[in-house]
Amino acid sequence: MTLTEKLLARAGGKARVAPGENVWVKVDVLMTHDVCGPGTIGVFHREFGRAAKVWDPSRIVIIPDHYIFTADALSNRNVDILREFVREQGIRWFYDVIDDANGAWKFDAAKGPLKRQYGASFAGVCHTALAARGHTRPGEVLLGTDSHTCMAGAFNLFATGIGNTDAGFVMGTGKLLLKTPETMRFRLEGTLPFGVMAKDVILHVIGEIGFDGATYRAMQFDGAGARSLSMDDRMTIANMAIEAGGKNGIFEYDEKTKAYVEERTRAGGTRAEFEPVEPDRDQEFVHDQTIDLSKIEPTVAKHPDPGQRALARDCGDIVLDRAYIGSCTGGKTSDFLAFARVVKGKRVKIGTFGVPATPEVVRELQTLQMDGRSVWRVLEEAGVQMTENASCAACLGGPSDTFGRLNRPMNCITATNRNFPGRMGHKESRVYLASPYTVAASALTGRITDPREYVPTS
Ligand code: SF4
Repeated sequence: MTLTEKLLARAGGKARVAPGENVWVKVDVLMTHDVCGPGTIGVFHREFGRAAKVWDPSRIVIIPDHYIFTADALSNRNVDILREFVREQGIRWFYDVIDDANGAWKFDAAKGPLKRQYGASFAGVCHTALAARGHTRPGEVLLGTDSHTCMAGAFNLFATGIGNTDAGFVMGTGKLLLKTPETMRFRLEGTLPFGVMAKDVILHVIGEIGFDGATYRAMQFDGAGARSLSMDDRMTIANMAIEAGGKNGIFEYDEKTKAYVEERTRAGGTRAEFEPVEPDRDQEFVHDQTIDLSKIEPTVAKHPDPGQRALARDCGDIVLDRAYIGSCTGGKTSDFLAFARVVKGKRVKIGTFGVPATPEVVRELQTLQMDGRSVWRVLEEAGVQMTENASCAACLGGPSDTFGRLNRPMNCITATNRNFPGRMGHKESRVYLASPYTVAASALTGRITDPREYVPTS
C-alpha cells in the first residue's frame, strides 16, 4: 500500500484498503476556523440537537485566522460565535484573538493595521499554527474545514479539507466515510539549486500535470530529494497539493519530521505519542514521475490559475503594481528570511506588503539579526509594509479594509498559493504566484524578475 492507503487502512481498522474503496475512518483531529466554524457549528446543532456534545472536545482545534483584523462587524462576530461554542463544549484547543474567555472581539481600525491587536493565545494562520502548536502528529488523520489542510501531510499524516456538512458530522461522531484516493508519486532527486525554493518545486509539479491533474488523488513526495528538504519546504509543497486538485499531499517520515514534531508537541503541551507509517515495498501508483530538483528554475504561475506555469526569466515583460508575502504557504520565518536576503539594503519599487503567518514568525523576525539589525527592520527599511497582525489577510481577499487587499484591478506577484480571478480581492486583478525570492526580486524591479542575480551568494 502507499502511505495514504496505509493511513486510511489504519484509521479504518482494516488490514488493507484499495483505491476507490470507501472506508469509515476514525478522525484524530478536526480543525475549523472563523469562516467555516460558525457554519459547521450550525450543522452540528441542527443534526445532533441543541444540547448535543461534540464527540471529543480534546480533538477539536479552533483557530480564528481569516477575516480577523477588519472592522467588518459580521466577521468580528464570527470569532465570538467560536468562543461561545468553545465555552459550551469545553473545547481545549482554542487559539482566541483575545484573552478574555467571556469577552467580545472588535478590531480597532483607529489603531491602524500594523500594530498587534491580539492577545496571548492567538496563533495566526490555521495550517501553520497547527504544526507550530503541535497538532500535526505522524500517522494520524487530520481533517479541516479549509482546502489547504493538506499542508499537514508534510508530517506523514492523512490531512485533507472537508466541507461544513462533513465537519458537522465529524464533530458529532469522530468519523467520516472517505473514498481511498489513487496515489501519484513524485520522486524527488537531487538538491535545490541556487535561487530556487520549495515553492518553485510545487509550481513546477502543478505545471507538469495541470491545476486539475491530481483531482481526488494523493500526491506522494518521496526520494532523497524530499528528504533533503526542510520541514518548512515540505509544508510549502504539501500545502499546494490542492492547487492540482489533490485530495492530500504526503511525505515520508524521517528524523527531521521526528525532531520538529517532538519539539512542537512538547512546547504546545499537546499529545506527544504518534506512530508514523513507513512505505511498503508493493506500492502501486497511478502516476509515477521523477523530478530532478537540480533542474528546476525560478517558476511562476501566471493568471488565472496555479497551473499556468512559466519561468520567471521569461516573464520580464509583465509589469507589476504590487508584491505580497504572507499566508500559510509563504508567510513562514524561512520565507521572510529569503525575502529579506534579496531586499536588504535596497528599496522596493512597488507597494509591497508583508503578513507573517503566526505571532511566532513576528517575534522571530523582530529578534533575528541580519548584519546588526532585526530582519523586521531590514524589511521595513527596504520599504516593505509589515504588519504584526498575523493572519490570512489578503490571501483570500476579505473585507475591503483587509491589509494588502487588491481593491482595484492590479498586477500582483505573491508568495501565496492560489490565483483564481478575485482570489485576492478585485476580480479583474491578475495574480502571479512565485517563491519569496522571486517576489522579492520582482518587488525591487517592478516587473516579474528571475531572482538569481539578486540573491546574495554568501
Ligand atoms: S493564508 Fe490563505 S491559503 Fe492559507 S488558510 Fe489563510 S486564506 Fe487559506
